[in-house]
Amino acid sequence: MAEACHYSKEEDKIRCLLCPHNCLIGENKVGICKVRLNSNGQLISNVYGKIAAVHYDPIEKKPLYHFYPGRNILSIGTFGCNFHCFFCQNYQLSQCKPSDFNEPIELSPHEVAQRAQAISGNLGIAYTYNEPAVFFEMMMDTATIVRQKGLKNVVVSNGFINPEPLLELIEVTDAFNIDLKAFDESFYQKYTGGHLEPVLHSLRMIYQSGRHLEITFLAIPTLNDSIDLFNEMIHWIANELGPEIPLHISRYFPAWKSEIPSTSSQVIIELADLASKILRYVYIGNMNPNIYSSTHCPNCRNILVKRSGYDTRICGITKDSHCKVCGEPIDLPFVVPPD
Ligand code: SF4
Repeated sequence: MAEACHYSKEEDKIRCLLCPHNCLIGENKVGICKVRLNSNGQLISNVYGKIAAVHYDPIEKKPLYHFYPGRNILSIGTFGCNFHCFFCQNYQLSQCKPSDFNEPIELSPHEVAQRAQAISGNLGIAYTYNEPAVFFEMMMDTATIVRQKGLKNVVVSNGFINPEPLLELIEVTDAFNIDLKAFDESFYQKYTGGHLEPVLHSLRMIYQSGRHLEITFLAIPTLNDSIDLFNEMIHWIANELGPEIPLHISRYFPAWKSEIPSTSSQVIIELADLASKILRYVYIGNMNPNIYSSTHCPNCRNILVKRSGYDTRICGITKDSHCKVCGEPIDLPFVVPPD
C-alpha cells in the first residue's frame, strides 16, 4: 500500500482525480475501481506492490505490431478496473479487489525493474492485464526506474484517465495500446460505466505527444459491430490521428457475465476489409492466422513483417526502411530489420 497521488480533500471526504469518474470517497470506502481507499483522510492505493500476474510475453500479445516486432516483454498487472464491462475478457483480475485474491506477489518497483533487467533480450515492462491507470503509482514508480535502466515501458489501457495524470504517464511511456470499445457514448455508459469522449481525448493527447500508439477494437455481435458506427470510428482515427495508426480488430468470445455468442470470423473479416480502405495497417486478433496477420507494404502489398501465431519475421524491409519489392519508403521507426 502507498499514498496515492491525484486527489483532493472535500470536507470529510476525498475526491480522487485520477480518472474521469472523479469519485468522492468517504472514510474507509473505496472508489469505483475498488482499489483506492480513503483511510484516515488519505487516499491509499491498496494495489501498490501487489502483483497479480507476471508473464514474459511476445510484444505481439499486447497487441503491439509496430513496436519492436518479434521481441518479448515482461508484463505485469494488479487488480481492479475503472470499467465494469460484463463481457470482460480478463475479469478474474479486473473485477476483483485485493482481498478476493489469495496470494498476490509482493514486489516493489525496484524488484520489478530488477526482474526486467535480469531477463536477457527483454524489451522492458508492459503494464497490462487489468487497467493500469488504477495502479498508477506503482506503474509510475516502476516505469521511472525502468527508463533509467534503458528499457522500454508499454501501457495497455482503456484510455479512461484524466489529462493531468496522463501527461505524467506519457513522459515515462514509450508505446501505448488503447482500447476503443465502441464509437458510441451510449455503449460506454451502458456497458462500461464510463464515457467515450475522455477516451478520445486520451487518444488525441497520446498521438500529439508523438509516442507510439496502436488501437484495439473488440467487436461484439449486436453491441458495437454496427457498420455505420464502425465507419465513423475508422474515419475519426484517420482524420483526428492519422491513417498510419495500426488498428487491431479483435474477435470476441463469451466471458464473465456475457452469453452473447462469439463474433463470426466472417464479420471480423468484413470489418477489416472496410477498415483497410481507410487505414494503412489493419490487423485481426483472436483468430487463426489470416491475411490480416502480417504487415504489408501500403503500396504493393508485399509482406514486410510475416506473422504466424506469435512467430514473427521482419522480412520485406531494407535496412534504410524501404519496401524490398517496390522501394516505397516505410515509416515504421520501431520495426528494425535483422542484421
Ligand atoms: S481511479 Fe478509481 S477511485 Fe479514482 S476516480 Fe477512477 S474509479 Fe474513482
